[in-house]
Amino acid sequence: MKTEYFRVTDINGAVFEKAAGVINRGGLVAFPTETVYGLGANALDPAAVKKIYEAKGRPSDNPLIVHISALSQLGGVVSEVSENAKKLMDNFWPGPLTLIFKKSKAIPNETSGGLPTVAVRFPENETARKFISACGVPIAAPSANTSGRPSPTSAAHVMDDLDGRIDMVIDGGSSVFGLESTIVDTTGKDAVLLRPGSVTREMLESAIGKIRTDRAVLEEPGGDFVPIAPGMKYKHYSPVCSITVVDGEINKVREKILSLLSADGEKGISSGVIATKEDSGFFDGFKVIEMGSDNDEARVAASLFASLRRCDALGLEKAYVKAFSEEGLGLAIMNRLKKAAGYNIINV
Ligand code: AMP
Ligand code: MG
Repeated sequence: MKTEYFRVTDINGAVFEKAAGVINRGGLVAFPTETVYGLGANALDPAAVKKIYEAKGRPSDNPLIVHISALSQLGGVVSEVSENAKKLMDNFWPGPLTLIFKKSKAIPNETSGGLPTVAVRFPENETARKFISACGVPIAAPSANTSGRPSPTSAAHVMDDLDGRIDMVIDGGSSVFGLESTIVDTTGKDAVLLRPGSVTREMLESAIGKIRTDRAVLEEPGGDFVPIAPGMKYKHYSPVCSITVVDGEINKVREKILSLLSADGEKGISSGVIATKEDSGFFDGFKVIEMGSDNDEARVAASLFASLRRCDALGLEKAYVKAFSEEGLGLAIMNRLKKAAGYNIINV
């Protein structure tokens, strides 16, 4: 299959009509959102949704997020809206927050991974909204990467993974937030945070009070608990390069990473460090991938997945990265880093 590629600068109404034609014929279109790029299909068409799983190599029990471009579409995809959901929608929609609802009959099992619930997001990105609105149907879309790889934050990442496997890519530049949406289950009496993101736990709590955090957010699933969001049980966001997180007091962390890099060098292992601007000078003479600044965690979040992909582009066998504080946006950063590292963490 030839993947048609359009830059946002080429985009006019005709391109959205073209994309809508692909969707309405049961095809796949990758599109930009403020979180990461999504791989969209008609959420109400089981055959189209199946193609998403095939293109990504995604396990079929891992449900998709349904994207809408207007609140008026919500009633068609869910059967109940709780008080918590209403408050969260009022505060954070449109934006990088996905809510879990009881699903309506219109949502096929292929979209919800066989669950009685459905994940819904109303994105803020203008290109995303124009695309969904042109399609005239809700759009099921997971991240537009090969399953298990770091999520795509640019159209180039999408092409690296899916060129020739999907019908069309709309290039809208780099994703502003760069981490997948926050996910909150609103179906029970108390809301539960299933995946942290750019709408932070603190922001959620300011809207609905204390919120429980699913254990899978920071602990390795398996053993004595199963994550509520099926996707959280899979190894995720991983480059081919083996990632190690080093946690502790910053000077000790720098020393430790430096000694690991030196030891790798002696053994002929190609390794590097993913570092903030403040730390990078410390690793002179080694391969450094710069990822934002300690004073700007939003930049760190936005460049995290590109940095992980960069490790592979540089052909690194190993890369080291320091741990961040788990407050605010740091919770989402650490959730992605721990998964990317396969929970390989050194405490110093
Ligand atoms: P992705 O679109 O690739 O970011 O993945 C979507 C995430 O949402 C995965 O972790 C899914 O397991 C999760 N998800 C989707 N639908 C549901 C649902 N009904 N209940 C719980 N988690 C869900
Ligand atoms: Mg994903």
